[in-house]
Amino acid sequence: MQQYTYVIIGGGIAGTTAAETIRKNDPTGSIAIVSEEPYVCYSRVLLSKPAWVLGEQPFDNVWLKKDDWYTENDIHLFKGLSAVTLDAGRKNVALSDGDELQYDKLLLATGAHNRKWNVPGADKRGIHYLRTVDDARAIGEVAQGGPKRVVMVGSACVSFEIIEILHSRGFTVTEVMREKYFFEPQLSQEGVAPIERTLEEKGITIIREMEVAEVLGGDHVVGVRLADGTELPCDIILPFIGVELPVDWLKAAGIATHKGIYANQYLETNAPDVWTAGDTAECWDLALGEAVIMGNWMSARLQGEIAGKNMAGPERTPFEQVSFHTSHGFGYLIGWTGDVRPLPDRTIVHIPIENDEQDHCRILVRHGRIIGGTTVNRPDLMSAITKLIKARVDVSGALEGLRNGNIDIKSLVL
Ligand SMILES: Cc1cc2nc3c(=O)[nH]c(=O)nc-3n(C[C@H](O)[C@H](O)[C@H](O)COP(=O)(O)OP(=O)(O)OC[C@H]3O[C@@H](n4cnc5c(N)ncnc54)[C@H](O)[C@@H]3O)c2cc1C
Repeated sequence: MQQYTYVIIGGGIAGTTAAETIRKNDPTGSIAIVSEEPYVCYSRVLLSKPAWVLGEQPFDNVWLKKDDWYTENDIHLFKGLSAVTLDAGRKNVALSDGDELQYDKLLLATGAHNRKWNVPGADKRGIHYLRTVDDARAIGEVAQGGPKRVVMVGSACVSFEIIEILHSRGFTVTEVMREKYFFEPQLSQEGVAPIERTLEEKGITIIREMEVAEVLGGDHVVGVRLADGTELPCDIILPFIGVELPVDWLKAAGIATHKGIYANQYLETNAPDVWTAGDTAECWDLALGEAVIMGNWMSARLQGEIAGKNMAGPERTPFEQVSFHTSHGFGYLIGWTGDVRPLPDRTIVHIPIENDEQDHCRILVRHGRIIGGTTVNRPDLMSAITKLIKARVDVSGALEGLRNGNIDIKSLVL
């Protein structure tokens, strides 16, 4: 049994930023990070970006910390080990090698795992997931190994970015999605239409509102059978079917969970001296008045910083951020800011803009205030919308003008 002042489960951006912040605020407290992956902290974001995947940038750009950083900051990194049980009463975490860690304060920054694809035949060789640096290395090797036929499953950001990479290497790409269009429902069909047109003009086949029923082949994939019986030959399949948050072992320990780990605005869980941060945190959003999972890099880093500050104490800082993320591909820059779920209590306003054959902007308004927005190729509007969300500006009197183009949304920024 080893004793630490601070134990952090998960060595991703949230856990590592928390450790860094704790060390700035508490020079002497002992810190341990337990990381299931056998690596130092790395950039998960880079794993789907063309220049890095295709080897145009040095592979080592992915590492955000070096081994020396942990030593210099007196942070013990348990690499390649999982936390398997928690006893929040005894303040004790058991690891996969049988060792136990005693903590004064604990952070759960366990991120997300890829959802496993359960269709018949999904265990064949030639199916590649993408979450870790090892997964990305394998996809990079495939991408550089000569053109093949690929079936992509799922229509979110990472899938879109990988399609561009494989297409640039001469792959024949077929995209199979359950949804009616890419990024549904986080972008409107009108907003995504030019993007899909570009993909189709480049020879990418998009099969909408369809599922793969079975993977065909012996040991290795040779094709897929779709739910309507169509068979598509292929050499590899990349399923991007969402993530699961690994919280079962924490639920068993009495930690309040839903999809993720519930936390208040200070990132405190229901257990004493236990915080959470990053993709796994379902944290109370002061502006929205509900618990939300952010699921993006900037939020994970900021939550790590705030959890670290709060763990070191004595002040308690709330997490208040307008979440935003972007996706690039085929010459488009798509941006999401704030809460972009088109739920029944929101009014969706399409903002007419120049060149709206290609570019796009829509906002979501609740109780007279903008709570989210999506843009295509308009980072300037994304920035204006983010400012309006943050400032909680009442736009109820301007909605008609925004809708018919008589009011420039940027003019509402105070
Ligand atoms: C390919 C890809 C591209 C992305 N691109 C973007 C982008 O462009 N922009 C953007 O905003 N976001 C992007 N994201 C999302 C972003 O990477 C995540 O939001 C961010 O990494 C979350 O950080 P985290 O520290 O919360 O979790 P993670 O990065 O998932 O780290 C959590 C770590 O905890 C470990 N762990 C889990 N359970 C245990 C346990 N029991 N014991 C020990 N360790 C455990 C996990 O193995 C993992 O190493 C991308 C994600 C992927 C996969």
